[in-house]
Amino acid sequence: MRKIILTGDRPTGKLHLGHYIGSLRRRVELQNIGDYDKMFVFMADVQALTDNADNPEKIRQNIIEVALDYLSVGLDPSKCVLYIQSMIPELAELTTYFMNLITVSRVQRNPTVKTEIKMRNFEANIPMGFFAYPVSQAADIAAFKGTTVPAGEDQEPMIEVTREIVRRFNQIYAPVLVEPNIMLPQNATARRLPGTDGKEKMSKSLGNCIYLSDSADTVWQKVRGMYTDPAHINVSDPGHVEGNAVFTYLDAFSTDEDFAEFWPEFANIEELKAAYTAGGVGDMKCKKLLNSVLNKILEPIRARRHTFEQDIPEVYNILKKGSEVARAEAAKTMDEVRAAMQINYF
Ligand code: ATP
Ligand code: MG
Repeated sequence: MRKIILTGDRPTGKLHLGHYIGSLRRRVELQNIGDYDKMFVFMADVQALTDNADNPEKIRQNIIEVALDYLSVGLDPSKCVLYIQSMIPELAELTTYFMNLITVSRVQRNPTVKTEIKMRNFEANIPMGFFAYPVSQAADIAAFKGTTVPAGEDQEPMIEVTREIVRRFNQIYAPVLVEPNIMLPQNATARRLPGTDGKEKMSKSLGNCIYLSDSADTVWQKVRGMYTDPAHINVSDPGHVEGNAVFTYLDAFSTDEDFAEFWPEFANIEELKAAYTAGGVGDMKCKKLLNSVLNKILEPIRARRHTFEQDIPEVYNILKKGSEVARAEAAKTMDEVRAAMQINYF
């Protein structure tokens, strides 16, 4: 079977460390290994409009921000197709047909949708398009016959919906679509990175993010203000690492090489955790370590971003070319879909 990697992000803000560790880093690794037939990465502006209908300018501005984020983490337009969802109208058509293959109650039970409705205080006033976005997301994946979706944990229920719709389509009409699989990060913390407040997941909508485009100064301000262990008052006190955001981040981001470089007294995170738990390790030193670890990751990303920022028309050109390639691909699938549904009249 062909391996088709597909993922996207909502252009509702700049991308952050949660995106990086939950999905972007994996995409770049997969891209560089090259063990796939095709790789698609898109900006889900149609989906972003489902809860930002009155603010199209925000989405428009964030298209370029997310594109810069993509290019600066190392996504390479010669190896993967970068495109904008709204430039592929075939996706809207497939969404319409998919709506018939799933019930309202099935979407209502989706835990990610439930949380997001609560987060946005939609309750009785859910925009129809927002409620239906899992269906449109199924179309986003199925139109490209995506097999592999590198994403964070919140996407698991969405992929399940996609699989159900595809299964039903293939059963009723003809077996032309492909059931995708989610590819979660190996590291458990990376599947759902909490925000700097240590509570909810890091999310653009919650203002608890460290952005890939943050300056070194800003990163230090945010790391310095991070939630640790309220019971760890004196350096000599025993500390707790569970629920301590600094340690959660060190778990997700630090490597043994980082310890050799920045804090050779400890060979790895486990040794540091043991010492912190026993007492005698200060929060400030841990935060300085985390700051160094993060900046080592972010520095090359900032440098590439700076280069691409010098030529914005070229960035749009990359997206235009990618959107053309993607549209041709989706159109091919739609021919098969219409034939399977016997709605190819002329
Ligand atoms: P919004 O608040 O607009 O929904 P978001 O920050 O949740 O934005 P999305 O665009 O919805 O980001 O998510 C894009 C991808 O990044 C998905 O694969 C998602 O699983 C992953 N992701 C987002 N936040 C995190 C996080 N905190 N930890 C791990 N993965 C994440
Ligand atoms: Mg989200």
